Amino acid sequence: MSWLAILPLVVLIGISLKYCWWLPPVSDQHPRILMYHMICESSERRYRGLRVHPARFAKQVAWLKDNGWTFVTMSDLERRIRQRADLRRIVALTFDDGYADNYYQALPVLRQHGAKATLYLVVNRHSQDWSVKKKAHHDGGELMREPKLSDEQVQEMLAEGIFELGGHTLNHCHLPSTQDQVKIDEIAGCKQALEATFGQTVTSFAYPFGHYGQGDVRIVREQGFGTGVTTKEGINKNPDLMQLKRIKVSGKDNFLAFWIRMRLGFRGLI
Ligand SMILES: [Zn+2]
Repeated sequence: MSWLAILPLVVLIGISLKYCWWLPPVSDQHPRILMYHMICESSERRYRGLRVHPARFAKQVAWLKDNGWTFVTMSDLERRIRQRADLRRIVALTFDDGYADNYYQALPVLRQHGAKATLYLVVNRHSQDWSVKKKAHHDGGELMREPKLSDEQVQEMLAEGIFELGGHTLNHCHLPSTQDQVKIDEIAGCKQALEATFGQTVTSFAYPFGHYGQGDVRIVREQGFGTGVTTKEGINKNPDLMQLKRIKVSGKDNFLAFWIRMRLGFRGLI
């Protein structure tokens, strides 16, 4: 048999590993938590995964609504889980960091569809390039140049009841490499600062970079947060409220990839 004859098989196997369409879906009784960062067209080479095109985002939200998914904030989700309420077709959209396009691009789409979301807002978000805290060679300043939400924009997003706020530390702190007292200041301080500035109780926390240890989980709980979200990909079948998995929505995703992520919690094996 020539290699040409097996080429279609190789391609099929490759596609099947990239998009695990053949795996059975996780029951829709288990809530989905989606993770977004920016909703914008990608002009930079780096961080393409963090930038979901506005048209794709609009299609994703419309599809969720058309397919009977109910949009909840993270405090809604926490309450439903604690009360053992019906969780069928529940989806929580989350946005990390506080990019200005969340106001310009995401807010109108959510408003149009009557959807809700949670914004994990870094308190000191202007003129910061937190990517270097994760990888020193990420020093191009792309994320620093990316416009961030003003307090006035955040007020508007909250006033309409579309968004609620979650904590993401004062400075997008890399928790594993930070001293304990500084960590406590970063975690407690962001709750206090957000509540003082925006007059809304903050009960959910997102671990910056998804990097944390069990000591950090304890600090987050002790500082009054009821939920903590990670960057671990997946669907929470038995939710650990302080270490919730999320479904990563990548800017590189086509609609098939998004659909598969909603079914499985991840896109594929490669
Ligand atoms: Zn972040």
